[in-house]
Amino acid sequence: MVIDQLRSDFERLQEDLQQAPILPNVTAEEIRSHLASRYDFGKKMTLDEVILDVEQMLRKWQVQVTHPRYFGLFNPSVTLASVIADTLVAMYNPQLANWRTSPAANEIERHTLGWLSRKFGLPAESIATFTSGGMEANLSAVVVALTSAFPDYGENGIRSISAAPAIYLTEEAHHGYNKIAHITGLGRRAIRTVATTTDLKMDLADLERRVAEDRRNGFAPFLVVGTAGTTGTGVIDPLPEIADFCRRSGLWFHTDAAWGGAAILSPKLKHHLAGIEASDSITCDAHKWFSVPMGAGMFFCRHPDAVAQAFRADVTYMAGKKTGPVFDPLTTSVQWSRRFIGLKLFLALAQHGESGYVDMIEHQASMGDLLRESLIASGWRVLNRTPLPLVCFTRDGLDVLRFLENLRERQIAWMSPVEVGGIPAVRACVTSFRTTESDVRQVVDEINSLSCLDSAEVVSHV
Ligand SMILES: *Cc1c(COP(=O)(O)O)cnc(C)c1O
Repeated sequence: MVIDQLRSDFERLQEDLQQAPILPNVTAEEIRSHLASRYDFGKKMTLDEVILDVEQMLRKWQVQVTHPRYFGLFNPSVTLASVIADTLVAMYNPQLANWRTSPAANEIERHTLGWLSRKFGLPAESIATFTSGGMEANLSAVVVALTSAFPDYGENGIRSISAAPAIYLTEEAHHGYNKIAHITGLGRRAIRTVATTTDLKMDLADLERRVAEDRRNGFAPFLVVGTAGTTGTGVIDPLPEIADFCRRSGLWFHTDAAWGGAAILSPKLKHHLAGIEASDSITCDAHKWFSVPMGAGMFFCRHPDAVAQAFRADVTYMAGKKTGPVFDPLTTSVQWSRRFIGLKLFLALAQHGESGYVDMIEHQASMGDLLRESLIASGWRVLNRTPLPLVCFTRDGLDVLRFLENLRERQIAWMSPVEVGGIPAVRACVTSFRTTESDVRQVVDEINSLSCLDSAEVVSHV
């Protein structure tokens, strides 16, 4: 059975990866000449032959983001259930543009999203959809918020809005909003960068000041983005205060919880997301801390009518009118033909249960705590404050890029550079549920013995 084969391949891969390099040493030329020499598609190959070659390429020529010592961007290790789900989806190829073609798939998604929507504390009438990722979910938020604030936007476009609309977020927010402002026709200058307090959270006083000033100057503020788990430093904006300000000021409150949203399942962590229940809309990625393969984002919105208005579409060639309490995803989301994205989250949730997810999330959080404490104990300075497993660290005189080069050369771990309040630092995020205590201890020991640290001073504990 295909599942048994997948299971054994999957387990073999996990074992092999432990021994394999975390990152590749390859040039584009090397890959291009390999492809050019083998694949002019003139002669047929057996499937086994191609698969073998492709697997070898993937083994050798990529950063192994599912490696337990990949402490990188929010790319997770994936569960077997989610891999099997993606395979099943490809085999049956359900079409999720409308309800009628794929009733089972549509209802499985609705069921899964409804469960998570309740966890976030959104009201029962809220609507949600699976997206390609956080970017599409954030784009959906901006389009829905725009449509809701400026009813003419849909028919007559941005130019019909007399005052230029403005979006408020911090420098720590995801930089994709610049692209979204570009794509929607708002223009990149519609983004207002609100100041942060010393702990990198949105400064409410500055938010209020900017909104008032923009209104005085004839702009049209309409949306505030609060981030729950910023990409660089894992910081959570003051969601209750932003929610309160948005309510008083008639602004749309979007919470971007692309990575951090999963913490809502954890009894230990969820209080850090308090205020998220007051969001007008939420972005949360399944392909980050829910540990399923890319691309699986989610968009939640408490105003189903606003969503229906933003994504309305008349189609004459789709068979059958909707009957009963169902909707066609193409009329409530950006995509048209769409893959059955939600099965991987459903299958993984069903297999592991909520408690399995809680264990996984809390394990990663505690590995983050261990990493943070071990680094501090050996003289590193941690620059960010977050309950989430993301640690930004440095020490006096550290050459961050040289340090990272050393880490990579010795295959100690994959980490990335970051700037925290203008200070260059190393960013390490526990993104794999397979990261163990001994992985963390090994990494810290090896880091501490790097010779490139000789010139950097050991500072006393923070
Ligand atoms: C990752 C991320 C995004 C973008 O999501 P993709 O899934 O990469 O499209 C947006 N916002 C935040 C806070 C993120 O961490």
